[in-house]
Order: sequence, then structure tokens, then C-alpha cells
Amino acid sequence: MKITVLGVVLAMCASAANAAITLAERGRATAVIVSQEGAAAAEQLAARELREHLSEITGALFDVRSSAEAGETAVIVGPGPMAARLFPDVDLNSFGPEQLIMRVSGNKMLLAGGRPRGTLYAVSRFLQTQLGVRWWAPWATTVPRRKSIRIADLDVTEQPAFESRDPFWFPAFDAMWAVRNRSNSQSSHITPEMGGKIIYTGFVHTFFPLVPPSEHFAQHPEWYSLINGKRQYEGAQLCTTNPELRDFLVQQVRSWLKNAPDARIISISQNDWAGPCTCPACKEIDDREGSHAGTMVTLLNYIADKLGPEFPDVAFDTLAYQYTRKAPRTIRPRPNVIIRLCSIECNFAAPLTDPSNASFAQDIVDWNRICNRLYIWDYTTNFAHYVMPHPNYFSLGPNVRFFKEHGVRGLFEQGAYQSYSSEMSELRAWVLAQLLWDPNLDDRKLIDEFLIGYYGKKAAAPLGRYLALMSSAANGFYMGCFTSPSAPYLNYKTLVAAEALLQKAEDAAAGDPDAVWRVRQARLPVWYAWLVRWSLLRRECLLSGGPWPVPASRKALADQWLTVATGSGPSGWSRMTHVNESGLTPERFVARFAEDPADPEVHKLPRRASRPAPPAGLARTGAVDIQDSYAQLANEGEWAEYRGDPLSSDGLAAYMPSTHHEWAVQFHILNAPKKAQTGTWKVYALVRVDPKAASPRGTAFTAGVWDNGMHASQGSIEIAAADAGKGYRPYLLGTVESRAERVIWIAPAANPALNGIWVDRVWLVPAD
Ligand SMILES: [Zn+2]
Repeated sequence: MKITVLGVVLAMCASAANAAITLAERGRATAVIVSQEGAAAAEQLAARELREHLSEITGALFDVRSSAEAGETAVIVGPGPMAARLFPDVDLNSFGPEQLIMRVSGNKMLLAGGRPRGTLYAVSRFLQTQLGVRWWAPWATTVPRRKSIRIADLDVTEQPAFESRDPFWFPAFDAMWAVRNRSNSQSSHITPEMGGKIIYTGFVHTFFPLVPPSEHFAQHPEWYSLINGKRQYEGAQLCTTNPELRDFLVQQVRSWLKNAPDARIISISQNDWAGPCTCPACKEIDDREGSHAGTMVTLLNYIADKLGPEFPDVAFDTLAYQYTRKAPRTIRPRPNVIIRLCSIECNFAAPLTDPSNASFAQDIVDWNRICNRLYIWDYTTNFAHYVMPHPNYFSLGPNVRFFKEHGVRGLFEQGAYQSYSSEMSELRAWVLAQLLWDPNLDDRKLIDEFLIGYYGKKAAAPLGRYLALMSSAANGFYMGCFTSPSAPYLNYKTLVAAEALLQKAEDAAAGDPDAVWRVRQARLPVWYAWLVRWSLLRRECLLSGGPWPVPASRKALADQWLTVATGSGPSGWSRMTHVNESGLTPERFVARFAEDPADPEVHKLPRRASRPAPPAGLARTGAVDIQDSYAQLANEGEWAEYRGDPLSSDGLAAYMPSTHHEWAVQFHILNAPKKAQTGTWKVYALVRVDPKAASPRGTAFTAGVWDNGMHASQGSIEIAAADAGKGYRPYLLGTVESRAERVIWIAPAANPALNGIWVDRVWLVPAD
């Protein structure tokens, strides 16, 4: 007997042991499928699913009937009179809406579950776990063939680990893919006849849709945020402590719910910007609670109390997002309030257990302590570059497990949701769907399984090495969900290796046109990286004397990219329409590569001096020297580059032209010398300002320390060109506690009076 537990307490049924059933023998059906009287549409669909797949597996024809004789071998699909009579100790009425049972007893097998979706899930789990069927993508299914099917000792009850499972990637919206992979996403195309899904009314950012400023601001400015002493709606939220506003919101929520009788969740949530109210009543709550979530939860509790009795099946949802991310100190959300905590500031190259994600991990712990219906809005793509390598592949599994272990009940895994052909979209959709059902599955095995099943056995190995390569290249980089192509993991050396692995995968797939098409789709992100970083990569190539593995013409590569992204593909797939969330089309993306650029000029660098002297005038005892070689340069070659500089301590410095104000030189504590990763330090940057002429005016540069996890500055300075003087000078950026998610940054000021600025190093002095 096998009982699979998916994180939730299960009914473990004592049952007849050692039963076995033969469904087919030598290509002939030996069992009937029973869809009983009173079967719901979703249960009839389950019976058809079973018949279709069994027929495809065995080549036999299976009958679907409304009953079976006692002596007949039969699969009873769903609840009904036969299920009740033949399996009297299985009380399907007591099953949860997605709970399922697969059980063999005598010559009968039961595949059934609670309503509305349990029976469909019983069939999909049966086909998946017992017969090896996989639904990779809407156009790609694996159905292992065999002539005979004998099922022995099957007695499994399952329930999904999460009540809301949303692998929010474009391929996952396909209705049958979603049903078969057991997503109940509100965005999927599942109809009620297909078992339905979780339905929201007002999915997110509903403050202004609920209380439109165009209708109410003129009459009720006091309903909107007080900011700097002024009531306003632009860049603002609602004044949620205003009693009239609250009652107006109650009316609005009631009317929205009446208009959406199928909705089980309504979102009452902040607009997608900051601007919380700072009126005395709001401020008093938020100050006391140590978070703007104070007023937010107070509002949700008010609405939930007023409308809960009238709408007992509805949950009232809000966000813990950006300025409301921290849990309140004393207020507790009501049981019918859902908090959707958003991971938008996280480092997605590393799991949540990594020190760089400590502040968000703490927020989950804090919310879980006070909230019994915690959902997570998680971010699993790069929204600014859907088609660029985004190596979060090996963080997905650990993170889903982390969520489960911390009481999370719903997961929204936001990916590239606007068209096909985003980076590894089919892989992420499928792997996430399996993990959302059962987070204890081995995510590495799931990834390998997908690579073999979808790309073919031969191409899978180089593709697996490609994922590992990108992932290890991003190790130590704080990879947000809007990371720019200046990310250091997209360097020449890594992309050359990536290109070789992908070429190997394509060669391995030769002879299988489906596999070749799939591998070519997987190549789009690396070609994208070559395209958007072309001159910088050319520069690295010329400096290193290495190979150039893509076409010599950028335009030729862009044309090749466009052909794959928008050309023909399998039935069920449609061409890429979105290169990013803002709606950049593939055609407009490649238009910028119409002309081939000239190669950049490159200069060889001198060797670094091995023992740089300490800077004059700063304490040496216990200090740490973080040389510019530890820095991450953004858009290297354009915004910043290494240059020989005899004035610097080791002969080399990071130079930034004064043509921009990007934080192009960054020292991540995560990558700093070990000693610098803990403790509290006075942080000095040694910077040289290079003016075009004497007595320059304006700002020379800015610098500071930024906390990625908190999304907040830990101190910054702005230095006037007139005060900078000649040569390298130490500038104190602040006294700061070292934490993995923190970054020391320096930026020029786009000041035309300067040539540029030079960064020699950062010097840390222990703060006593
Ligand atoms: Zn207020």
C-alpha cells in the first residue's frame, strides 16, 4: 500500500490488500470505464480523458458505460451509486474539492475525488504516476506505449499542498494543460465544465477601480492620501481610516461581489505605487504597528467583519507589497482575510534561505505568525527581458518548499505571461505545476525529467549543463526580476560556453524536427544576450583573443533570432508577441540592430600590483581593502571599464566616463572578502575626479550603500566637483552594518565639465 502525503493531513484508509487489476492485455481492452449516472461534466471529462489515454497507450478501444457487471473488470470514475456500493468505506462526500483517491479492490478500480475537481485529478494522477504520461506543453505530451496494463496494490489518497496553485506562465493558460497539470489558476482557460478554477473579482491593485478619483476626489478629497500636508490622488492611495470612505468601500465590495457570484476571492489592494496616507489617524496606526500594513489590515478586517456573514464563501484579499511588506506588530488579519506577500525585492539567483534574502525570509516568518491564510505573489521571470537568461532554475524548488514550510496556502508564480517563447517558459510552467501539487518532489529531478521528455534524451545533457553554467555564473549576483543586460553573468566567457552547449544540443537533436524546433527556441535567450551586449562582448572577445561563436554580422544574428521567435511552429504554439512586459514586439526589438556597428578599440591592461599600500590618512588596524577587482561593472566598456592608472594603489582602477549617472561600479558585500561580510564598518570609497579644465562646477559623483532586500539606502553622499581636488581621496559613505544584500555603489553625475571619475578601491575601517 502506498499513501502519498502532500504536506496536508490525509485520510489514510484501511483497505483490502493485495488487489490487482488488468486493464489491457496484448493490445486488447480487458476493463470497461464506468461514468455513473449523475456524473458532473468534469467527471464525464475525466472518463473521456481516461479512455483517450488508455487507448493511446495500448492501441485498444475502451468503452465508457454507465455501469458494470459484478464479474466485469471496471474502472469506476468519480462519485456515484457504483462507487458507493463497491467502495463502501470511501466517503467521497467528505473529500475536499481537490482531494482524490486511486484504489484497486477486487476486479474494480476507483478513480474519484471531491467535487468539483477531485475526480479529474484522480485520473491525471493515475495516468501520471502509474502509466508515465506527461503533459509538457500544449503541443508536447509523452504517452508511453505498452500492450498490457496491470495495476496492483494501488491505494492512494492525495490532496494538493497549496489551495491556490498558479504557475502564471503563458503555456500554463491552455485549458487542458492546466487541468492535466492540476493548476487552478484564475487566468487559465479552464471552464466550469472542466472542473473550474479559483475565481477572483478584482485581481490586484483595486483601490482606484473601487474608488475612482475621477468620480470622488472633487467631492471627497479626504478619502485620498494626505501627503506633505495635501490631499492628493496622483501617486497616492486611499485614506483608509476615514469612516465614510470605509463604508463606501463596503458598499462597493458588496456590489462587486453581487456582480460576480462565482468569485471566491476579492482583492482590496493598494495601487501599484507608493504614496500611503500620512493623516494623523493613519499615521497613528502605522507608527504603532511599525508598518503601513497596520492601516491596510485594519481596513481589510473592517470589510471582512461587515461582509463576512453575507458572503461566507468569500475571502477578502490584500497585498503585503513594497511599503506594506512588513507585518504589523499587534494587529491580526481575520480568518477570512488573505494576505498576498510579494517577493519583488528578492535575489532570485539564490534561494530564500540565502543570506541575501534574509529580510524577505523574515517577513514570511512574521506574517505566518499572525495570518492563517498567507498567499505569496512570487516573481519567476525577468519582466524587462522575458527572452534573456534568468538563472533562477534551481531556486524554484527550494523556494516552493520554503513557502510550504512557512504556512503558505496559495502561490502565484508570476512569469512571462503574455506570449510563448520566453526563456525556458515551458520548463518553468511544468516544473512549478508539479511542485505546487507536491513541494517535496525533487526539483532537480523534475528539471532533468523535463529536459529529457521535452527536448529528447540526447539534447537533454548539454541543456542541463547549460542551465548549470548560467546558474553558477549568476552565483553571488543579486538578480532581481528587472535585471538589465549589464548583469555580470552575461559575460563573454559564459556566453561562449553557453553557445557551445546549445549548439551541441541542437546537433544532438538533429533528425528529430520537433526536438530541433524546441532546442532552437531554447537558444533565443542566449542570442538575445549576444545582440543586446554586442559591442561589449566584441570588446571582451578582442581583449581575450578568443573565438566569436555567432555570426560576424549582428544583423544576421538578429534576423536569425526573429525567424525562430516568429516563424512557424507546432500546432498549439503561437509566435512570440512580447519581448518584455511593456509590450516590446520582436520586430521592434530587432529593428535596432539594422546596421552593423564597428568593432570597439581595445587596450591591453597592465598587471595589478600584488601588495597595494594602505591609503594615507585612514586607519589601518583591522581594516579591509576591497580592490576594484571585486567590483561589478555595469555595461562594461560603455558605462565603466578597467583602465591602467599609475596613480591608483595597484596600477588599475575602474573608470566611468562622466556621460551618465548610473551606479556602474558596485561592490556587493556578498562577493567581498570574507572578513568584510560581517561587522559594522566605516565605508570609504577612494575616488579620483578627472576634470576637463580647472575649476569645474556642478556635481562630480554620488556614492552610497544600498540594501537590496529592504530596497532602501543606508547612506549616500554627493560630492561637488569644486571640492574634489586632485588625485585619489577617501570619501566616507557612512557607518554601515555589513549584510549580504547590501551594495556599495559609485556613480558619475553626467557632468559635462568632467572627463570621468576613477574608483581605486573601497577601504573599510572597523567602527568602534
Ligand atoms: Zn489617512
